[in-house]
Amino acid sequence: MKARSDKGSGVNAIRGAIEAVVGRENAFSDPEKSCDYGHDEFSLREIACEPELVVKPGSAAEVAEVIKIAGAHGVPVTPRGGATGLCGGCVPVCGGLVLSLERLDRVLEIDADNQMAVTEAGVRLSAFSKAVEEGGLYFPPHPGDESAMMGGLVATNAGGSRAVKYGTIRNYVRGLEVVTPTGDILRLGGKLEKSSTGYNLMHLFIGSEGTLGVVTKATIHLITRPSAMRSIVVPFETLEPALETVPLIMKRGVVPLAVEFLEIEPITLTEAHIRKKWPTKLGTTHLLVILDAATEEEMDRLSEAVAEVCVGKGALDIFIADTPSKQEEVLAIRSKIYDAIKAGTVEILDIAVPRAEVAGHVRKVREVAARYGMWLPTFGHAADGNVHTHIMKARYEGGQMVPVPESEWRDKADQVREELFRDCRERGGVISGEHGIGLVKKPYLSLVLDERQIELMRGIKKVFDPRGIMNPGKIFD
Ligand SMILES: Cc1cc2nc3c(=O)[nH]c(=O)nc-3n(C[C@H](O)[C@H](O)[C@H](O)COP(=O)(O)OP(=O)(O)OC[C@H]3O[C@@H](n4cnc5c(N)ncnc54)[C@H](O)[C@@H]3O)c2cc1C
Repeated sequence: MKARSDKGSGVNAIRGAIEAVVGRENAFSDPEKSCDYGHDEFSLREIACEPELVVKPGSAAEVAEVIKIAGAHGVPVTPRGGATGLCGGCVPVCGGLVLSLERLDRVLEIDADNQMAVTEAGVRLSAFSKAVEEGGLYFPPHPGDESAMMGGLVATNAGGSRAVKYGTIRNYVRGLEVVTPTGDILRLGGKLEKSSTGYNLMHLFIGSEGTLGVVTKATIHLITRPSAMRSIVVPFETLEPALETVPLIMKRGVVPLAVEFLEIEPITLTEAHIRKKWPTKLGTTHLLVILDAATEEEMDRLSEAVAEVCVGKGALDIFIADTPSKQEEVLAIRSKIYDAIKAGTVEILDIAVPRAEVAGHVRKVREVAARYGMWLPTFGHAADGNVHTHIMKARYEGGQMVPVPESEWRDKADQVREELFRDCRERGGVISGEHGIGLVKKPYLSLVLDERQIELMRGIKKVFDPRGIMNPGKIFD
């Protein structure tokens, strides 16, 4: 981890004032405690920075006071949620304060009549989902790490596998309370399904990665829980027919809850990692199709349609996980792939391309992998066109992950990333479908956005944050 930056050396001058707002116990710089606040889940810890001061406010009013003090002294403020981000978004690269939202951890209301929840920003996804279920409702978005916080999900416009049917977090946010970089508290939107009342500032904050202000509260739209759910695993001999099947399923009029594609190697490693069994080892590429429906009859109809399309494209078999325990096993393996290969991962890309371009993009990944002699396991949310290629510092050999020397991956990792970003641009895609730009993808933004768009974004940032204190160094310079 990099030593404390000296760029934000104004911190010493404001420390007393900040302690007076949040209490001494909620402002600390002791390296033993604060070093946990200098990184996120991006695997190369060389981007991590030791925070100058970690501040844990207990209310929106305290957030506003802290920001006013920091702003008056030009001290940077980096908002931090669950730190599950994968692009260095909450890393305090310019020094100053790390503003952790962890004390804003209450679900304030489950409003069954309006099908809305009101939550503070520091509530973890796991706790939020539990509160919603206890209230008899359902929150469809499900990004892979449940320790992410609701404010972080909003700030990154998180997606996850269920986006194909239900969309990303943006589709669920109806209201936000935000503290601007000038210390104003804005209440945007509400328990409303419609609004044509001026510019929609709320949507500007969704996906702004903490660069426009701090989310302190969110009003979230909920739905009625679907009564039937079923997972179908479909092995294919090769990549192409598997991925070409996905647009055909959608064309058939079936909108699954999720369609994931997986390669056999990460499945094998994850089975060993969590001691659970995937239903089949046939072929090289598998589709995991998850369906939801209001009735069992509807579920049978959807399953048959999916099976028919898959068989028509040469599926080797169809495995239906229709009991809760079989479903749990399949979903556990899918969600633990990250853990199983984390030790060998340099970076997880989250390129998004039009759905029908996924097969072509993954073919390109394989060609690049062969040319550079690297293992680039690739899986993802196939029906959303969202592809997670893992750039690895390990190779796959005999069912094991074997580390490779740094000299064999370091430079190649940059070249691979750039080649794949260029391929995504040629296919009309974007370099981030759900994780955000943060620090790590910043140098590549101009590959997919023209200079005028970036200039307009800079202009918006300046309106909200004239002093440039809010999460500086992220998205663009
Ligand atoms: C195993 C694993 C699986 C994942 N799967 C998915 C997935 O399927 N889909 C997906 O979209 N993502 C996924 N992610 C990425 C990550 O979980 C999401 O980006 C998540 O939304 C980050 O939330 P967080 O609370 O951890 O935010 P952090 O990492 O703390 O911060 C992320 C960004 O948001 C800003 N921020 C945080 N809180 C606030 C706030 N209250 N106000 C303003 N800005 C704030 C930060 O400054 C930073 O820029 C995965 C990560 C892991 C480790």
